[in-house]
Amino acid sequence: MKRAFITGITGQDGSYLAELLLLKGYEVHGLVRRASSFNTGRIDHVYQDARDPDARLFLHHGDMTDGVRLLTLLGAIAPDEVYNLAGQSHVRESFDQPRFTAEIVAMGTLHLLEAIRHSRVACRFYQAGSSDMFGDSAPPHTELSLLAPRSPEATAKAYAHWTTRNYREGYDLFAVNGIAFNHESPRRGETFVTRKISQAVARIQAGRQDFLYLGDLSPVRDWGYAPEYVEGMWRTLQQDEPDDYVLATGTGHPVQDFVEAAFDHAGLDWDRHVRFDERYLRPTEVVELLGVPDKAAEKLGWRATVQMAELARIMVDADVAALEHEGRHWVDDVRLPTWPVLATD
Ligand code: NDP
Repeated sequence: MKRAFITGITGQDGSYLAELLLLKGYEVHGLVRRASSFNTGRIDHVYQDARDPDARLFLHHGDMTDGVRLLTLLGAIAPDEVYNLAGQSHVRESFDQPRFTAEIVAMGTLHLLEAIRHSRVACRFYQAGSSDMFGDSAPPHTELSLLAPRSPEATAKAYAHWTTRNYREGYDLFAVNGIAFNHESPRRGETFVTRKISQAVARIQAGRQDFLYLGDLSPVRDWGYAPEYVEGMWRTLQQDEPDDYVLATGTGHPVQDFVEAAFDHAGLDWDRHVRFDERYLRPTEVVELLGVPDKAAEKLGWRATVQMAELARIMVDADVAALEHEGRHWVDDVRLPTWPVLATD
């Protein structure tokens, strides 16, 4: 049985990848940040009690900033494949928390690569690179395009990208850079623009919200469907030789197209509900990201099939359904004792 270790297993991609690998018969280990409340909502449906003799999913507390913990875990798990999906992945947020972002995305990747090197575990490594690394570089983007990052998140990803290449070349690790363009799903974080749009459309349609506040609608992005991208990630590690791959649809759309597709699908006029909020502008914006997925198609046999308009429909339908089944997560059952009266009362 193959064994995989996934950092970022509680995120959008990590949850789909865990499902995929479990289906393929893997034993799956995931790194989970310790938090004051459960942060495993995206993987609860595949969770198995570790005491179950048939369990194939195991979660381990740890953090990308703790290299010693990563080294210990790698030695104990001895995985065949490591997928580094953990990250502070929100570009706008990275301008407010640049150092935190770099600690997790750049130094975290270094910690993990060092852990692999020093534990001497013979595993294959996937680095979740981002199209944002291309930044100002002229589209369309291939594996050979110039990296010209325009945000703290993207500069940290570029560091991780080059470090992965250096470890591949310098230490003979089977280390792969995936350069994924935007991929979304109903599990996308609620602060990312596509999910903000699909959730708002569902709420506006239900009469629970009037307006959606967005920033610049002109940047062009290449949007695909996340479950397809994790299949691409897995395929990169099944090759004879490690290499770098662009994962993309090959089609770009301005944000406004996604807005229109989502509102149209719900029978709503986007112009009446969308308002501009300058707080969502970035100090430096990336005008256009457009991937060329030819190498992935040729070498991996991978191709994205879901395009932007279908993606918008999938996400709106899911958020409409989620709203219909919305329950109260939090029950206000606080009962304070009757305190003795103080002299000052
Ligand atoms: P998410 O933001 O949904 O998930 C990020 C994951 O990283 C979460 O599991 C999060 O944990 C975890 N994490 C964050 N900080 C730490 C830390 N200090 N230690 C351990 N774990 C941590 O991202 P996606 O699933 O969308 O993306 C996966 C990866 O792919 C990311 O690295 C992202 O940058 C990259 N990528 C994504 C693209 C996309 O369009 N989705 C495009 C290109 C690259 P928690 O749940 O506790 O927050």
